[in-house]
Amino acid sequence: MIQINGLAKSYTNDSEKIEVLKDLSLTIEDHSYVSIVGPSGSGKSTLLHTIGGLEPIDRGEIWVNDQAVHKLKDKQLAKLRLKEIGYVFQQFQLLPTATALENVMMPLLNVFSSKEIKEKAKVALERVGLEHRINHLPSRLSGGEQQRVAIARAIVTNPSIILADEPTGNLDSETGEKIIGLLEEIHANDDVIVVLITHDQAIAERTDQQISLLDGKVKVATLSEL
Ligand code: ADP
Ligand code: ADP
Repeated sequence: MIQINGLAKSYTNDSEKIEVLKDLSLTIEDHSYVSIVGPSGSGKSTLLHTIGGLEPIDRGEIWVNDQAVHKLKDKQLAKLRLKEIGYVFQQFQLLPTATALENVMMPLLNVFSSKEIKEKAKVALERVGLEHRINHLPSRLSGGEQQRVAIARAIVTNPSIILADEPTGNLDSETGEKIIGLLEEIHANDDVIVVLITHDQAIAERTDQQISLLDGKVKVATLSEL
């Protein structure tokens, strides 16, 4: 479960402070499939980063599976991310000089033996339908294939939470639809929470819960919108 209480987060640019998240609270139940929606600049990526322990916060509490993310030191945060969280980005964020297989092996380096790491990475690539592309560099893969590699890298650690920041933002709609289908399949088969930022209303409507951000808070739906 993810529980956020009174979260505030600001950035300071050129000594000007902007408060992006203001006293935000929300709960995401185990095994749910959740979307974060809202206008550009409303803090969706920032919220995802804070859940993933990628950004320090100003105030409030973030609980991930009973762990107080807001209190963890860097080393403990790295451990939490490795054990619990798989992150998928709009821009894929693959290492260009490494093959698909090597990219997927990366989160497991120094955790298992090299033989086990390779085996687990191959299984993850099979799950995303890329077993025939494991030795390709990212530049030799299509956008949809690169995102599949990124998803394999996210699931190879067996996380309990997958955080996806506009995973279809760089893909045509047909390819994007397949990527969402893959995330939905992973959600259905694994006991994971999937939290997805999307601008696509049709995708958001397929999720169990839509978290709508406005002015740094969760917007409460009005009766006419329900
Ligand atoms: P969204 O994902 O909803 O588009 P973001 O969370 O990316 O919103 O950004 C919210 C606001 O915070 C924007 O005004 C953005 O420019 C600002 N912002 C995001 N990340 C940073 C950062 N690392 N440093 C400074 N400002 C940032
Ligand atoms: P996405 O569309 O995937 O959310 P963005 O383009 O919003 O990506 O942000 C890319 C990166 O730049 C993020 O890590 C974010 O924190 C950072 N960022 C966004 N806005 C700003 C800003 N105004 N100043 C500095 N960094 C920013």
